[in-house]
Amino acid sequence: MTSSESVSELVEAVAVHTPAPEYSQIQVINEDKVFSNNVNAYLQKVDLLSAGLSYHLISVFGSQSTGKSTLLNALFGTKFDVMDETNRRQTTKGIWMSRAKQDRILVMDVEGTDGRERGEDQDFERKAALFALATSEVLIVNIWEHQVGLYQGANMGLLKTVFEVNLSLFSSPNRSLLLFVIRDHIGVTPLENLAATLTADLERIWDSLIKPNHLQDSKITDFFSLQFAALPHKILQPERFRQGVDSLGHRFESEHDDDYVFDKSYHRNVPADGWSMYAQSVWEQIELNKDLDLPTQQVLVARFRCEEIAAQAWERFENDVKPVEGMSGLVSGLGDIIGPARTAALEVYDTQASRYVSSVYEGKRKELITKIDTKLAQIYNHHVSILHKIAIQKFNSSVASELGRPHYVFLDSIQRAQSETLDSFVAAATEAQIAGVLLSYESELQSLTYDLEEAVSRLRAVEAKKLGTKITRRVATQLDDNFPRIYKVPSEDLWDRVVLTFREALENCLEKYKVEQDGLVIYNLGLGGTADEVAIEICQIKMEVWKVLYRKMREYSKPDSVLLRLREYFEDRFKYDAKGVPRVWKPSDDISEVYSEALKSTMLLLPLFATAKLANGETVFPDPDVVPALDRDEEIDIEQFPIMLSESQLLPIRSDLKRIADSLYVDAKRSTIQSVRQ
Ligand code: GDP
Ligand code: MG
Repeated sequence: MTSSESVSELVEAVAVHTPAPEYSQIQVINEDKVFSNNVNAYLQKVDLLSAGLSYHLISVFGSQSTGKSTLLNALFGTKFDVMDETNRRQTTKGIWMSRAKQDRILVMDVEGTDGRERGEDQDFERKAALFALATSEVLIVNIWEHQVGLYQGANMGLLKTVFEVNLSLFSSPNRSLLLFVIRDHIGVTPLENLAATLTADLERIWDSLIKPNHLQDSKITDFFSLQFAALPHKILQPERFRQGVDSLGHRFESEHDDDYVFDKSYHRNVPADGWSMYAQSVWEQIELNKDLDLPTQQVLVARFRCEEIAAQAWERFENDVKPVEGMSGLVSGLGDIIGPARTAALEVYDTQASRYVSSVYEGKRKELITKIDTKLAQIYNHHVSILHKIAIQKFNSSVASELGRPHYVFLDSIQRAQSETLDSFVAAATEAQIAGVLLSYESELQSLTYDLEEAVSRLRAVEAKKLGTKITRRVATQLDDNFPRIYKVPSEDLWDRVVLTFREALENCLEKYKVEQDGLVIYNLGLGGTADEVAIEICQIKMEVWKVLYRKMREYSKPDSVLLRLREYFEDRFKYDAKGVPRVWKPSDDISEVYSEALKSTMLLLPLFATAKLANGETVFPDPDVVPALDRDEEIDIEQFPIMLSESQLLPIRSDLKRIADSLYVDAKRSTIQSVRQ
């Protein structure tokens, strides 16, 4: 014998010696016809509340004191009250229920009065029978052998009522099994004969029923399966009674028994956790003598229970997501939290609710999913909005460090930072998504893209400004290199030369930003941006450069400089002759004539310095494309662009020049007198 064999034998031995479980009972409907509040608690106690549809329900009916409870106790190991043989004490009225010793079977025992013959309480009997039919898969009909064939017998009367009710009240009746147990079977008449007699009786009853039109041709077997069993007298033949009960019990235990009593079609399809509600509602309908519509009852129970179960599932879900819901910061691995939370909640729902009427189950499931997914979307949206903020922060610091390097390439750095930021946002947002739920980061991504664009265009503006400063500085240097020379020769084309020099300087500086594209010359500052943005930046730079011209023109037209230039001009004409040879005044010279000529031509230069005018008479004015920008600039007054000196500035220049000229004239005069004296 191998060790494994010995173990299995040991297990078997233990199993054989484990006594069958004994269960207590509950009064489902009491003597006052009130339905109990404790049925769920009872089902819980006997471990069947969460059995779903995996349970069976059996009821018994028949005349009082015909040994029904005795039979049930013997067959199912229940402990229903049995009338005491010695003092004929009445058992407690009502409908009782107990779990059987067999696998997941519930048995209901009906206790009426003994008064059928006395015409008492037929109402309760009838209602109890209806209740049994509405709830049970198998109805055990308990009958004495000597009652068989007595068509008018008490049981047959009750059966007729039950059949009638089954036909008329239940809009779509379930099938059930009627199991006739013939008691005190003497054995002279074989069971087959008794069964044939009973079947004939039943068919006769069936035929005599008033049936609705569409069921006119129906047979009893369309609605009921029939089984028969016989038991000897319990007290006179106890051993044979016990054997009979044992073999009858086999039909409840083994699916392989030819007479196995249960069939899917008998089941009322009410899950165990909804049974109490269903049974109570059925009982109330019966009590009120209302039409019994079982499918409606089943749907009502399904609705109520699915609602309750959905609430449990929702509570579970809310608990699971609570930790991530209120977080102000980033929750890492969000998908790993919310995904399982959703699955767990649906599992809670599916496990219990899937046993109910499927349309109700499906409907409520959809509602639950919508509710869960709405919440998930909220949580997810919050998550991606935080990712958005983090992305912006990362972008800013990465740009700051990139642009902090000595030799950065603006466009490359920015574009890299931008695409890295978007990539890591999408990666994090995708990671937090969960299968089967539509969680979209699209709109947040759009808004992030927009924010980045804005940040980039701000950075570009700063960069363009830096570039502009560099360019204007270069232009200023070029102007400073050339202007002194230009201003030294105050000819009529003074301003033409000024403008030409300026334009050359501007052209030089912008040259390297010009590119040809599709046959057009456009600018590219190398900073990215749209054509419009670049155009604005170029215009801004040009404007700054024109401002340089504005300033430089004024710098070179300061009253002192102008006076100095005029003085030189006057001196050139007064102190030197036409050949450039210094004059040595002789008494015969007409000093005042030379003086007047020189002064006059010098004075004629003043308007040239006062207003920037080209040789063709046009005043110097900025190009039209930069005028609006210059106009907005508070540093300059565009109207005054060509005006170098105002009338009030000219007056002192004139008088100073006159004074200087006069003193030179006096000097000249004095020199001739001295030469005469010598
Ligand atoms: P119930 O009212 O139908 O539940 O009947 P009980 O089980 O309470 O039993 C009523 C009486 O019938 C009791 O006194 C039992 O002893 C007796 N009894 C039980 N089984 C049998 C049986 O097989 N044959 C006869 N003749 N009496 C029985
Ligand atoms: Mg009884």
